[in-house]
Amino acid sequence: MHITAQNLDNLAWDKMDGLLPCIVQDAFSGRMLMQGYVNREAVAATLNDKQVTFFSRSKQRLWRKGEESGHTLDLVELIADCDQDSILALAHPNGPTCHTGSECCWRPTQQPVISQLSELQRTVDARKAEGDDSQSYTAKLLADGIRRCAQKVGEEGVEVALAAVAQNDDALLNESADLLYHLMVVLSARDLSIADVCQVLEQRKK
Ligand code: AMP
Ligand code: ZN
Ligand code: ZN
Ligand code: ZN
Repeated sequence: MHITAQNLDNLAWDKMDGLLPCIVQDAFSGRMLMQGYVNREAVAATLNDKQVTFFSRSKQRLWRKGEESGHTLDLVELIADCDQDSILALAHPNGPTCHTGSECCWRPTQQPVISQLSELQRTVDARKAEGDDSQSYTAKLLADGIRRCAQKVGEEGVEVALAAVAQNDDALLNESADLLYHLMVVLSARDLSIADVCQVLEQRKK
């Protein structure tokens, strides 16, 4: 259920003594960022301000994530689960979400594979936006144009094939990483992304 100011009372407040868990997910990559608790007021504030706001059990007051650090979470959507006792917040983070300074409260390698790939795609897209004035290999490659990006995909593809035939697992993993990275570069050069590729794969299942 998509949560709005109008259906907020339908959440299972009574069953949960007024406090529901709320997991925040990066709306771009699907990466799990953090978890907190929300009361009715916190949900109303989140919907109103478009900034994810929790109820802090230690402070016993509303806590807008980032109120001190500036690392706020811009709300995209609040979604309730099947029995309305748990909330998923899709958001765009402004800076690292964890108070330790990490991007998220779970380790990057504990995230779903697709969100790890999407994060890399986001970095590639950001380098493209910054342009070639940086020291970035990615920015330089993109500035060299589509033919150079495409050529690299071809090269890395051949290297993957050779490593596979040679039964060299270490080389196969490294060349596969090169290939995935350069694939994302070439997709970015064409204003596409790994998420678009996944959509095609998803359609093929049907
Ligand atoms: P912030 O909301 O980012 O301004 O941080 C304010 C305080 O909230 C921090 O000093 C932490 O005690 C706490 N805090 C911030 N982020 C998190 C998080 N992801 N999980 C748990 N506590 C947090
Ligand atoms: Zn539930
Ligand atoms: Zn944390
Ligand atoms: Zn390579």
